[in-house]
Amino acid sequence: MSAAAKNLPDERGRFGPYGGRYVPETLMAPLEELERGYAAARIDAAFAQRLDDLLHNFAGRPTPLQFAERLTAHLGGPRIYLKREDLLHTGAHKINNCLGQGLLAERMGKRRIIAETGAGQHGVATATVAARLGLECVVYMGTEDMERQRLNVFRMRLLGAEVVGVDAGSRTLKDAISEAMRDWVTNVRSTHYLLGSVLGPHPYPAMVRDFHKVIGIEAREQILRAEGRLPDLLVACVGGGSNAIGLFHAFIGDESVRMLGVEAGGRGHGLGEHAARLAAAAGYAGARPGVLHGTYTYILQTPEGQIATTHSVSAGLDYAAVGPEHAWLAKERRAEYTAVDDDAAVDAARTLARIEGIIPALESAHSLAELIRRAPQMSLDQVVIANVSGRGDKDMDILARYL
Ligand SMILES: *Cc1c(COP(=O)(O)O)cnc(C)c1O
Repeated sequence: MSAAAKNLPDERGRFGPYGGRYVPETLMAPLEELERGYAAARIDAAFAQRLDDLLHNFAGRPTPLQFAERLTAHLGGPRIYLKREDLLHTGAHKINNCLGQGLLAERMGKRRIIAETGAGQHGVATATVAARLGLECVVYMGTEDMERQRLNVFRMRLLGAEVVGVDAGSRTLKDAISEAMRDWVTNVRSTHYLLGSVLGPHPYPAMVRDFHKVIGIEAREQILRAEGRLPDLLVACVGGGSNAIGLFHAFIGDESVRMLGVEAGGRGHGLGEHAARLAAAAGYAGARPGVLHGTYTYILQTPEGQIATTHSVSAGLDYAAVGPEHAWLAKERRAEYTAVDDDAAVDAARTLARIEGIIPALESAHSLAELIRRAPQMSLDQVVIANVSGRGDKDMDILARYL
């Protein structure tokens, strides 16, 4: 499967049975226009060069692959390397995708960008890129999330974006996405919808992955330089799945490299208590394949097929659906998925802060928690790369209350 794996999705946007384009008729033309625009940009050397330049000089790529010397000694297991996406401008991997899509919008003649945001990080990255490129920016955000991430709301407004509160449903990310899609249908001539993860209808899952795969391309070169060989294991947290697929993708063809995605285990295994869509083997209830926001994938839902509510201490992992490529990697058993609960994630954040001097985002802390759990069973000569998808500054309020 490895050779084929690299070439997915197929022309219909399918990763095996997952993915695709399940949208109302009104969205077909905008998506087809976007698909054509992206296909043209992909083979445009000037576009690639401009993106490279911004990634380097504006966002801060390449990010270091840091040997976590003290964490390695502390856990007494494999040699642990941290891919430091937290060091990027705006504090997380999300800027990779925002720069890519921002330049694409510009290339397609769209002067207005809309986005949705959960943790606020994607909204901040989008507002940042819109400011840098001189584009108008409107960000939809659930009012519950606005409350949880007040500082990010302020940042977006400071950057010149309009933040629109969404008071419907659970007042979180999935409601903001519905609102953004409505806006797009109405204003498509002037507007690009800058989707924030490897979700939504084709071509988004493939396009967002492509803008993040630089993470794994860099990490692969860096680990070969540092260790002279490939890693045994990659670990990353999975909300929609963009930082994880960004790290994984360059290694999909390397069968010796195991991949582990870590979802939000929240505060329990019952439906509504967690956001674990692919970790059924670990006992998390409620995930079945279905369609949400234009893509066919694993979704947390009630027995009647209603989208379930979710819970996580980290807003960035708190979403009912997972990217379709991850659903497929799970089905093919090319990647493994598990979940970590709120308490373990908070503990891991504290451990990394004290032992390595890095305060990770609570999202990233989920992957570190699972690594901390597994490391003692691994051998000293093994090599692991953990993706530190973002920094924890945005989570200080939550951490302070929690501890
Ligand atoms: C948004 C976010 C995530 C989750 O999104 P993915 O698409 O799964 O990567 C993870 N970590 C951080 C720091 C984030 O901001």
